[in-house]
This record gives sequence, structure tokens and C-alpha cells, in this order.
Amino acid sequence: MRPFAYARPKNVRDATDIVTPMGVAGQGGAWLAGGTTLIDLMKLDVLRPEQLTDIQALGMDEIETDGETVRLGARVTMAQAAEHPAFKEGAPVLSQALWKAASPQLRNVATLGGNLLQRTRCPYFRDVSKACNKREPGSGCDAVGGYNRLLAVLGTSENCIANYPGDWANAAILFDAVVETRRGRRGRAIELGKLHRLPGDAPARETVLEDDELITAIELTVPSWARRSYYLKVRDRESYAFANTGAAVALDMDGDSVREARIGLSGVATTPWRAREAEAFLRGKALSEETAMQAGAIAFEGARGWGHNDFKIPLGQRTVARALLETARLS
Ligand SMILES: Cc1cc2nc3c(=O)[nH]c(=O)nc-3n(C[C@H](O)[C@H](O)[C@H](O)COP(=O)(O)OP(=O)(O)OC[C@H]3O[C@@H](n4cnc5c(N)ncnc54)[C@H](O)[C@@H]3O)c2cc1C
Repeated sequence: MRPFAYARPKNVRDATDIVTPMGVAGQGGAWLAGGTTLIDLMKLDVLRPEQLTDIQALGMDEIETDGETVRLGARVTMAQAAEHPAFKEGAPVLSQALWKAASPQLRNVATLGGNLLQRTRCPYFRDVSKACNKREPGSGCDAVGGYNRLLAVLGTSENCIANYPGDWANAAILFDAVVETRRGRRGRAIELGKLHRLPGDAPARETVLEDDELITAIELTVPSWARRSYYLKVRDRESYAFANTGAAVALDMDGDSVREARIGLSGVATTPWRAREAEAFLRGKALSEETAMQAGAIAFEGARGWGHNDFKIPLGQRTVARALLETARLS
């Protein structure tokens, strides 16, 4: 690991004043939260920040609820959020997407801000001997013709097929999540659905955040009907593995008929992904095995397999269908 400078400011204003921007090539400065993504990538020499700004002393670790609104500081850990009654009882999909991720040790230190911004697990991104436009713009993409079993089928481009590996963002995106940020003295709010960028021809630019912009909080609107929600994660082993496919589902039902459906997809896309066409298709329909399968097919319209990962399209369709049927069974 390369040497780096380390700072641990005591308030957000000092923090956002001292940080130096981290360029797309992984140099410059970086925010250090739980470190479970960042330090890994530094050890692999994928990221080479010259300065780490530790955000541990900045607070941002409260969970506040007010009616349907849940506001979480960016340093709330995955474990804390997973256990909070607003999620565990009020919107199980938001709790399940956390506790089905990583391991207990990781969830105890990993933060929600870091979780949203975790980097892809694409093996070509993580191996500095391989060509990767995300790591080194303009170098090419060895994943396209390489072993791409784990990679994306939605939102890809010829320049990058790396998948967004996180679970929670695909559940949070169902609840109008907004990310609050600070940069110097200025703050802004960004819809979670607009935080990440499709790779297009510039895969190294993963989000709309400025390089030195700090996420301070995440706010969600959780309606009472979100109690009927569920996260289905399909993976190679039942624990401690990233999603091959996954579906985050919340249903507002009127008897057998769907008043509103919300569907997020994991493991299959280059960014957090909401299947809005499938949601629209289900509105007003009775939920049966047939309509659930149709919704799954619609969710993957436009998907493209790259060889080894072709299986993700039929598997993803069935994952959506099963998640819908399981969710409908909840009371
Ligand atoms: C073995 C292993 C298995 C895993 N399995 C899963 C899984 O199944 N599902 C899943 O979803 N995740 C999984 N993860 C990923 C894990 O959830 C993330 O590593 C973790 O959530 C990142 O949070 P962190 O606080 O450690 O972030 P860090 O590593 O500290 O930061 C990650 C990135 O976010 C930036 N950052 C952090 N906080 C902020 C902020 N407040 N504002 C702006 N930028 C910020 C950092 O600069 C860095 O670029 C796994 C990780 C490991 C190591």
C-alpha cells in the first residue's frame, strides 16, 4: 500500500474545507468511513489516494423518524439501520437488504454513505494488470470479451459492463430516497435515483457528486403499506456473497389487486435500478403467477447478456416474479 496523509477533522465544515478532490484515476483525496471498500482497493493499488479524511469524528450517526420520514446520518452503520424498527417492522425490505449483505463484522463498521458509494466488484476493475475504462479511462474493457459471469446486463455500454454490487440502494430507491451533501459551505439534496451515472463513454465517473462532496444524510419516505415488502437475493452461496440477481419489492394491495408496486433490481445493472415499466404494468392488475412472470419479463426488456452472464436475464425475470408473489403473501 502506498503512503498517504491522514486527517481526522472534528466538524463537517473543517472537513469539507481541508479535503482535496479525488480524481477519477483514484488519486488526490478521499473520505474514509468504515474503510471496507476503500482500504481494500488501496491494498490492491486500484485506488491511490494521497490523503484520507476520516469522517469518524463528524457525528452524522443518528436515525430520526417523523411520521413517514426516516432520516439517517451518513455514518449510521449497516447493522444499526438493519435493526431499526422503522425498517425492521415498517419496511422489512430495507432491513433485509442490509442483513443479507456482507458479514456481521463488516456490517458493524460499514456505513450507509460508504455503502451507497461502494465500487464495483468487477474482477477487471480490481486487477491493475487488466484493461479497465473505469479504473484507467481509455484503456479498454477486458470484461466485455472476458469472463463476465458476475457482470451487468442492464445499463451497460461497450466501454463498461461492471455491475453495481450493492443491495441496499436498490431497496432505498423504492422510497424516494434523497441524499444530502455538503461541499465547503454549500449543501444540496440529490435524489438517490439520480446519484449514479450510467457508464456510457465515461465509466470512471460513477456519480454526479463532485470529487470533494460529502454525503451527510439519507432521507426516505416510508409509507405505512411498506410493511408489505421483501428483499429476495439470489447468490452462489446463502451467506457472505454478492447478488447474482436480486429483487426489492414493496406492494400496496387492494385485495388481490395491485394498487401500487415498487421494484428494485440487484446484481444485474450498472447502477441502482428501479423497474418502473414493470411497476406500471402491475398497477390495477390481480397478482398471479402469470402477471408476476410478465412483470419480470418487462423488467428485463432491453437487457443484454455478454456471454457468461446470459443466465442473469431469465434468472432475474424469475427473481422478480418470485419476489412479487412472496411479497403479496405477506399481510
Ligand atoms: C467481503 C465483502 C463482502 C461484501 N458483501 C456485500 C454484499 O453482499 N452486499 C453489499 O451491498 N455490500 C457488500 N459489501 C460491501 C460493503 O457493504 C461496503 O464495503 C460498505 O458498505 C462500504 O461502507 P464503508 O463505510 O466501509 O465505506 P468506505 O470503504 O469507507 O468508503 C467507500 C467509498 O465511499 C466514499 N465515502 C464513504 N463515506 C462517504 C460520505 N459520507 N460521503 C462521500 N463519500 C463517502 C469513500 O471515499 C469511498 O470511495 C461487501 C464488502 C466486503 C469487503
